[in-house]
Amino acid sequence: MLGNLKSQPADKILELMQLYKDDPREQKIDLGVGVYKNAKGETPIMRAIKTAEKQVWESQTSKSYVGLAGDPAFAAALRDLVLGDSVDAGRVAAAATPGGTGAVRQGFELLRQANRDVHVWVSSPTWPNHLSILKFMGQPFTEYRYFDEATCTVDFDGMMDSLKGVKAGDAVLLHGCCHNPTGANLTLDQWKTVTEFLAKTGAVPFVDIAYQGFGDGLDEDAAGLRHLASALPETIIAASCSKNFGVYRERTGLLMAISESDADKPVTQGTLNYLNRQNYSFPPDHGARIVTQVLTDDALRADWKDELENVRLSMLGLREQLAKELRERTNSDRFDFIARHRGMFSRIGASPEEVLKMREQFGIYMVGDSRMNIAGLNSETVPLLAEAIARTCK
Ligand code: PLP
Repeated sequence: MLGNLKSQPADKILELMQLYKDDPREQKIDLGVGVYKNAKGETPIMRAIKTAEKQVWESQTSKSYVGLAGDPAFAAALRDLVLGDSVDAGRVAAAATPGGTGAVRQGFELLRQANRDVHVWVSSPTWPNHLSILKFMGQPFTEYRYFDEATCTVDFDGMMDSLKGVKAGDAVLLHGCCHNPTGANLTLDQWKTVTEFLAKTGAVPFVDIAYQGFGDGLDEDAAGLRHLASALPETIIAASCSKNFGVYRERTGLLMAISESDADKPVTQGTLNYLNRQNYSFPPDHGARIVTQVLTDDALRADWKDELENVRLSMLGLREQLAKELRERTNSDRFDFIARHRGMFSRIGASPEEVLKMREQFGIYMVGDSRMNIAGLNSETVPLLAEAIARTCK
């Protein structure tokens, strides 16, 4: 039986990580994998998370099962963080999931429960896992234009033009902030235009928010999503705590489904519970419990916000330094978009050959589509990267 299995394509980013590890050169820079790293190249446990974990360890008296949707206190705390008061909580059904990926998968499953043939529209490019999950599920999807490769900005006219085929009952997947892989984001006005468009067509937005607080700030990063959710009858949201709480391996995420009215919520909530039951039964609790502790304790919350803000500012500082170094080396403002991009990633518009050349000649590891993780840099490696880009990219 197992002999019938076909080998699956290797994950490109994991492959890149291995190549980096195997590279014997001392001078090498890993800009591949999507985790935050500080100036020492470490992915630290955030202070508030460490304290909350200790408090949970000291106070927890049982490891018995929680509910199928996870702890309601987690759902409430994360719902408020993401949505603020933009939507009446009585309309929001929610279920904890294993990470943001679990929320994305369960969100697609939810759409499919509502409409077996749901057609999903995804940005081109998008986080590769969106496409691979949709393909795995056999769900029809269409990619819409999003990124202008020449200017490395959002091609908003192109986006709206290619969304013309969207119909009532389709789902449109949007990145809440810090678009992965490009770093190019919609402005609030553009979110408003998208909202009007969705209201007119009757398509359902599915917002994946995995980097809240990494772009312009916790509230600023959720502003587009909040506007959209407040104006439309239904919205699906997949939220991840992996990055902004630094709890990657704890697998902490939340799927939210906003119904048109309170009356629809029980069936939506029941469907979320049912979907968890079918896939893994009870969702992981440890990360969710720590995050809840941080969000509901004033001192821990303030400390977490403070540390997150420092993380955000450090990435912005690296962006500005890199853009400046490139301005000096290329005598042009061609790479200024790096300072305007937000979040952990920027796609810099280099060809696959140029990406390979930077790896071979300069030991710089970025994903083949020229996505680089800004957090993989520090103030000493920025000039090395700037030199490599200036000498390689045409
Ligand atoms: N969505 C996007 C756009 C992402 O970039 C990621 C992580 O890289 C996720 C969701 C999910 O992350 P996780 O499953 O680790 O919470």
